Amino acid sequence: MFDKLTRTFSDVLRQVSGKSSISEKNIQDAVEEIKIALLEADVNLRVVRRFVNHTIEEARGEKVLRSVNPGQQFIKIVHDRMVNLLGSETEGLQLKGPDTLSPILFMGLQGSGKTTTCAKLALRLKKEGRKPLLVAADLVRPAAVKQLQLLGEQTGVPVFAVEGEKKPVKVVKQALSFAKKNSFNTMIVDTSGRMHLDDDLMKEIQEINSVLKPVEGLLVADAMTGQQAVEIAKEFNERVGITGVILSKFDSDTRGGAALSLKSVTKKPIKYVGVGEKIDELEQFHPDRMASRILGMGDVVSLVEKAQETIQEEEAEELQKKLQSSTFTLQDYLEQFTRIKKMGSLQSLVEMIPGMKGNIDEDALNSKEMKKEEAIILSMTLQERHNHRIIGPSRRKRIASGSGTSVFDVNRLLKKFDKMRLMMKKMTKNKKLQAQMLSQF
Ligand code: GDP
Repeated sequence: MFDKLTRTFSDVLRQVSGKSSISEKNIQDAVEEIKIALLEADVNLRVVRRFVNHTIEEARGEKVLRSVNPGQQFIKIVHDRMVNLLGSETEGLQLKGPDTLSPILFMGLQGSGKTTTCAKLALRLKKEGRKPLLVAADLVRPAAVKQLQLLGEQTGVPVFAVEGEKKPVKVVKQALSFAKKNSFNTMIVDTSGRMHLDDDLMKEIQEINSVLKPVEGLLVADAMTGQQAVEIAKEFNERVGITGVILSKFDSDTRGGAALSLKSVTKKPIKYVGVGEKIDELEQFHPDRMASRILGMGDVVSLVEKAQETIQEEEAEELQKKLQSSTFTLQDYLEQFTRIKKMGSLQSLVEMIPGMKGNIDEDALNSKEMKKEEAIILSMTLQERHNHRIIGPSRRKRIASGSGTSVFDVNRLLKKFDKMRLMMKKMTKNKKLQAQMLSQF
């Protein structure tokens, strides 16, 4: 995706970036090349025109022509316009709180990747701590219900289906009461598609929409279909109303025009992109990072994030085991600090990437309390860290002086840790509560 476009952008921007002065002619030439590249990438003609006009207008202003580094100013303008084209802000799902059911309606043509994406999103939301229910309301494609059930098994997300039912609305109605009764807080409804847009399909989705009253109406559009994806999104938005688009098959070798035109044409954001057939291959869509990627600035942030996520998952699992067997010690507690610091250094890596400056929460990393607790634990022997109960009064005094704190501070930490362990033991079955607890301490 975007290979050719990226190459052109990189070339054009490289040519411009080294210049100590830029003339109107330079701008015209650069923009002309960008225009051709966008059209070749199958971007909607109107969108290209608007992009080009805005860029020229801004670049002509004094900002570029008179600035110290005109090349970089120009790149910034192109980058900002590109971000704007892709949607400006990263837009997540607008779900209700954990105690209220948030229904999500999926729609799209047959083969767009709807069923797969429902399961991908369910898995993602489950990992984020929600309790999702998948609802099989695609009753047109023969294998759709079975497919969703299989995906449900893979992801560990329950699937609601009604054997023999022909009317999707009825399935949805029953699913709503089932979800409420069983305290699911998210309901993801897979609906049927058709080969092409037709009235039957629209009526069916409209009917489901009015019964379900979803908080999110997501259209799954196949990136491989290019401009057609944009037309489909427009149609669904006008006839049913959508809150966002998930662009599937983003991993495919397409020219990427759909991604670049969707927001401008439909005014609805791309929220996620499907990047493979596997169940965890769904990524949040970040307009700024995508713009950098297209302009050839590299998508380092996504890579860093991915690595970070894997590390965190592995460590969280390990921690979970310890909590359940109540072998969680002060040493583990200390390692939590180190982990946060490690993330801190990851953050500084992130900061080096263009556009990411200023996203660092210094307070969280330098919290005085955390430093104090760390110093106290570091002044203990390993044996004490593994079993804090053996720390008597004289050792407490020594630890306090060794860590530059007071006995009061040491006692407070030990008391707090005891309380924390006790509460954790009580809730060993409730992972989410544990996570909340841990973050409070
Ligand atoms: P539906 O008819 O809209 O429910 O489509 P399906 O969910 O059955 O998907 C159609 C095909 O697209 C399947 O072979 C999926 O594995 C594939 N697919 C879905 N999403 C992606 C994606 O993000 N990348 C790739 N490469 N394939 C995908």
